[in-house]
Amino acid sequence: MFLAQEIIRKKRDGYPLSEEEIRFFINGVCDNTVSEGQIAALAMTIYFRDMTMEERIALTLAVRDSGTVLDWNKLNLHGPVVDKHSTGGVGDVTSLMLGPMVAACGGYVPMISGRGLGHTGGTLDKLESIPGFDIFPDEHRFRDIIRDVGIAIIGQTHSLAPADKRFYATRDITATVDAIPLITASILGKKLAEGLDALVMDVKVGSGAFMPTYEQSEQLAESIVAVANGAGCKTTALLTDMNQVLASSAGNALEVREAVQFLTGEYRNPRLFEVTMALAAEMLVSGKLAEDRDTAYRKLQTVLDSGKAAEVFGRMVAAQKGPVDFVENYTHYLPTASFSRPVFAEKRVIEKQCIVTEMDTRALGMAVVALGGGRRKATDTINYSVGLSGIIALGSEVNTDTPLMTIHANSEDEWHTAAETVRKSLVLQQKALQQTNVLAAESNVETKVTTQMVYRHISG
Ligand code: URA
Repeated sequence: MFLAQEIIRKKRDGYPLSEEEIRFFINGVCDNTVSEGQIAALAMTIYFRDMTMEERIALTLAVRDSGTVLDWNKLNLHGPVVDKHSTGGVGDVTSLMLGPMVAACGGYVPMISGRGLGHTGGTLDKLESIPGFDIFPDEHRFRDIIRDVGIAIIGQTHSLAPADKRFYATRDITATVDAIPLITASILGKKLAEGLDALVMDVKVGSGAFMPTYEQSEQLAESIVAVANGAGCKTTALLTDMNQVLASSAGNALEVREAVQFLTGEYRNPRLFEVTMALAAEMLVSGKLAEDRDTAYRKLQTVLDSGKAAEVFGRMVAAQKGPVDFVENYTHYLPTASFSRPVFAEKRVIEKQCIVTEMDTRALGMAVVALGGGRRKATDTINYSVGLSGIIALGSEVNTDTPLMTIHANSEDEWHTAAETVRKSLVLQQKALQQTNVLAAESNVETKVTTQMVYRHISG
């Protein structure tokens, strides 16, 4: 028999906790025998004292086991159960393409996604811009869709890793969110409850990333890879660029439109293509659907070219109660904003030809939230139609006639407010284009322009 306060004291005094102590505490988080004050105290001691790898694994498994852990064995699936998780970004719509692409290659993707958080968009919010799309099919239906289509994207139910919900809510109000052992257990506790054979983590780096520095993103990626592999799930991580909006658009319906265009080949933003292919290839290799990355890329290109990935996406939408002809007629179904106009640089800022050398990606994400495309508090409703499209890439040449992007707003006033943010979020310089990467950018090279989207590959 343990006491929560003794567990906190032990950690406070710098001793590692045993697996039993961690399980006892997490059970108490679930059944409310541990108080909010005790959760806060333990979180703060972990923030300062850190956790050993054994402790991190024990905490992750305790969070995972606090609710239902999905078991796919009974379905006799013909391929591996695989998923991807991203630390969140702006215009990060990769899930909507890579899920169907991997399913089209023989994987099964039971993706449990989240809503937008702060300046970052959420896959569930994007999907809800499709009329009728059901993000909460019951468990039976979820299994049927996975078996028949190969992919379903749903919201987190109360039965999945419930300990994380209470633990996270307390961290959120006690300045203990940014502790790497706690983030690791929170993300992986939920992901591993999906009963995965393999996972790829997309850890973002740059001005729109959740972790503020390259080093912290790297530490988080390394922690997640070590803990997930230690917990028995084959996991790799990619550190990818978030110094600019990943897709050409940001905003729910606008990103869904871009995802469909990507799958059908109508339009593929090269940055989005590079990151999506790299992540999907990791899923195929870790899931043993391809022996190496080159083979994985070939398989993924084949399902894009043949239209099979687009077809899987369409079947998923139909299975989750969206329109059966969504891929063919997406323009008819997706909502559009009432006031859409391009925004240009101001004449006084830009005299000659300039280059976009820096983008405050977080500010652009917040501009989408301010337009009504995200939530400031959990109860806010979303306007799915608003956002940004045709977003200019870093390194592009601009003059006063070049649109920086198009703002989709509800009113002219909201358009003007967003236009001000857009102009402030871009640095335009009259200088030769310098190619660099984020490491150079972090060491104060003047431009953040990069042609490299994947900075590092981390495997267990
Ligand atoms: N996302 C999560 O799910 N948990 C964290 O702790 C941080 C980000």
